[in-house]
Amino acid sequence: MNLTEQLHETAIKMGNKPAYYFMDQFSTYAELDGAVTKFADGLSKLGVKKGDHIALLLGNSPHFVIGLHGALRLGATVIPINPIYTPDEIGYIVNNGDVKALVTLDLLVPLIEKMHQSIPKVKNFIICETPQGQASKVDPSALSAFSKMKSFTRVMASGNLNFKGPELEEDEIAVILYTSGTTGKPKGAMLTHKNLYSNAKDVSDYLRMNENDRVITTLPMFHVFCLTVALNAPLMNGATIIIDPKFSPKEIFRLAKKYEPTVFAGVPTMYNFLLQYEDGNPEDLKSLRLCISGGAAMPVALLHGFEKKFNVIVSEGYGLSEASPVTCFNPLDKPRKAGSIGQSIMNVENKVVNELGEEVSVGEVGELIVRGPNVMKGYYKLPEETAATIRDGWLYTGDLAKKDEEGYFYIVDRKKDLILVGGYNVYPREVEEVLYNHEDVVEVAVLGVPDPNLGEAVRCYVVSKNPQLTEEMLLAYCAEHLAKYKVPSSIEFLDELPKNTTGKILRRALKNQVLQT
Ligand code: AMP
Repeated sequence: MNLTEQLHETAIKMGNKPAYYFMDQFSTYAELDGAVTKFADGLSKLGVKKGDHIALLLGNSPHFVIGLHGALRLGATVIPINPIYTPDEIGYIVNNGDVKALVTLDLLVPLIEKMHQSIPKVKNFIICETPQGQASKVDPSALSAFSKMKSFTRVMASGNLNFKGPELEEDEIAVILYTSGTTGKPKGAMLTHKNLYSNAKDVSDYLRMNENDRVITTLPMFHVFCLTVALNAPLMNGATIIIDPKFSPKEIFRLAKKYEPTVFAGVPTMYNFLLQYEDGNPEDLKSLRLCISGGAAMPVALLHGFEKKFNVIVSEGYGLSEASPVTCFNPLDKPRKAGSIGQSIMNVENKVVNELGEEVSVGEVGELIVRGPNVMKGYYKLPEETAATIRDGWLYTGDLAKKDEEGYFYIVDRKKDLILVGGYNVYPREVEEVLYNHEDVVEVAVLGVPDPNLGEAVRCYVVSKNPQLTEEMLLAYCAEHLAKYKVPSSIEFLDELPKNTTGKILRRALKNQVLQT
């Protein structure tokens, strides 16, 4: 079984059920499945073949869902790309990923026209019309200005509903995800049909996703968290996804009131925005049975604040692109533990090891390593990096973690973000957790910066909601709750912290920013 066959089966079983809502319209499973088949056939008529690479340079939209499943049904490999990347970033992924066809929005036609000569391997550009209701900034005649451009609608219309895709083997590459890579160039994690199918299945079983669920899909679809947890897991179970092109608290409350979702999946910053949103009526979220957090550490104070205000359980999980992505989640049948990423999900093993790769005792900190059907085949065209990351069948995550006696894991921090203050280890997350408990702190990021005496010093960046709050007051607060060597040497106030499009706070981008000034 693979994702696209599963979609077809769901369409046979419950064809009339809405698969998605988008801009207040809906499409049934039968309609979605038909669109996928026709798009797959339309692609084949353009000469796209099994094994070819197709990039989706798209935000959250039905085009993404049809493009993804259409390409998979044809046996092609999909490379999702963040549409707000710069031409250089897009060009790197398209060239490195040997992309033959690129699907994008008409709004990006001017960019494509400018850069198409730098991506010569792309034979077809398929342009999606701006969804109804959103003003297109592009003159439609621009679509014919460049001969390799085809309209998505026309490609789909040229396809036939009788189209039968090739047999797909479980270890063939379904998707290549370029990881954001904070140093060096992004690397393409190759995920097989088995990787993606097994992880969507295991996580949806674990979270009991079912056909009665309605899931808000606001995380970006080009990111693996959304791809598996808020897109493929719900579709695999006949649930309905509510596609939100751009996260805003106002829109989430509107969608929640209108569609009564049962599941919300987000990164911690989204929970923070929802909690801080003053016009948010908790009544509007009452249909939620479960909130899922992942992608970054959920501050405990935020978790408690959100659960209390909205009267819903927030279950935190953990994952990474290389593991398709989920490895751990807080279980639903036992109490969720605040600050923990939960236990290993079905079929996936997690282990905390020392530098020699030996498992450490309960409570001891080490690197988290992972094994299971979800672990990627490797990095595209990077055998050495693959061998360094997957050793003896275990994926080395680069995250420091510990385990308790009940098998719950806790992420301590990124190995690379550890701060060494005069020989002492300071985990930025521990300092951040303390500051999140302060009533005036909205967001915080803690970094290590060079210090002539101590090697490194702890510096802290805070977004505050109280203009009266001073550095001295916060330092005094830290001194009350932290050992002396962990107390920041300085605290600076910022209007906002840098985040990626998934909403993760980018400590290292902040560090580069501050070290340059
Ligand atoms: P990505 O490959 O972009 O999904 O990023 C994966 C990384 O996000 C992991 O290696 C972790 O560093 C971080 N991450 C994901 N989930 C959590 C979590 N619940 N707590 C702390 N860090 C997390």
